[in-house]
Amino acid sequence: MPKGGVTRAMPKTLPISDKYELLALYRALWEAKFNPHPTQRELQGSPFVANLINQVAAMLDAEGLAIPGETPAAAHPREWEIALTRACETTQWAEWDHDTKVSYARDLLAPVASAADHVERFIGLVDAQQKRPDEAPPSDDLLGDLLVVREYDLKVPGEPDDGVQVRIGVPHSVPSRVAYYCRFQVVGLSRNKVRAAYGVDALQALELAMQMAMAVVRSSAEARAGRLYFPGDSEPDLDTQSLRLIGYWRSDDEPEWPDPKDFVDQEWDERERDIVVSHLQDGRAVWAQCGLSPCRFCGKPNGSAELSDGVYIWPEGLAHYLVEHGVRLPQEFVDHVNAQCDALEQTRVDSTWWRRVTPREG
Ligand SMILES: [Zn+2]
Repeated sequence: MPKGGVTRAMPKTLPISDKYELLALYRALWEAKFNPHPTQRELQGSPFVANLINQVAAMLDAEGLAIPGETPAAAHPREWEIALTRACETTQWAEWDHDTKVSYARDLLAPVASAADHVERFIGLVDAQQKRPDEAPPSDDLLGDLLVVREYDLKVPGEPDDGVQVRIGVPHSVPSRVAYYCRFQVVGLSRNKVRAAYGVDALQALELAMQMAMAVVRSSAEARAGRLYFPGDSEPDLDTQSLRLIGYWRSDDEPEWPDPKDFVDQEWDERERDIVVSHLQDGRAVWAQCGLSPCRFCGKPNGSAELSDGVYIWPEGLAHYLVEHGVRLPQEFVDHVNAQCDALEQTRVDSTWWRRVTPREG
């Protein structure tokens, strides 16, 4: 990694006029490094790209746009998995000395994890994986083998019927063995990205992938307009047995979501807001990855995981909109939060079990 400065004169410096350009550069480099289907594989472990993204991350940090960086498996399981897969595929790995492995691992992981213990753990996992040539690392295919497919008919007045497919992939273990993932994709609706859900075992990953996929279907403009039919049915599918999605906001990529500016209400009762904020922050992480989502107001990278309370599912950065930008969520959601809090307060506390518990012997 070049440290002592550039030895030959550069024509001129790169003009970056504001933080949005810096963020765009950061996301472009991120895409190059952590694309599961790279067309230029060498970029992912390139020391030059790693050095660049580290520098941009440091500049973002200086701008107050910090990127969470030091808990790789938990905060960035997707990137950790992609870097691991790439390292496991590296044929020369077994011949490298330790220092070479360290520097390659750092380059692959930048800017997600640079702490020495993370890098060492990463190397240990690749070493272990490489000793098991019979067990291939997770497929690099976008979706891999399909486990189940559900089909809908999409009926738009005045247009021929179209098909919508919910595709759930076969769950796989992450090479680290700390987690499983299950990829899924909804094809035929306005959102059709391949995404992944993570779980402690294959069943949980599958369960979450199915919930997430159905949340994408149910929350789609097409489903809300009553245009999704089970094949052969004459009534649209109104099943609501799924997680209800909240807190996705409009962007250039996804213009169909609401604009958070329409939800700003500085008069919102502070106490009520705080209750909703802590409810949002207390959600269970379902680890479904949708890439770094920048705040639509301030551009700050705003998380990539999703949280759920068993009824609703929301991006982990949603609380930020309430705290920093005065976004008020719909009353129906606020009522739901209050109802869950009330239910908890009114529950009888059974203390007998804890009284009987004895410490483990030995
Ligand atoms: Zn913000």
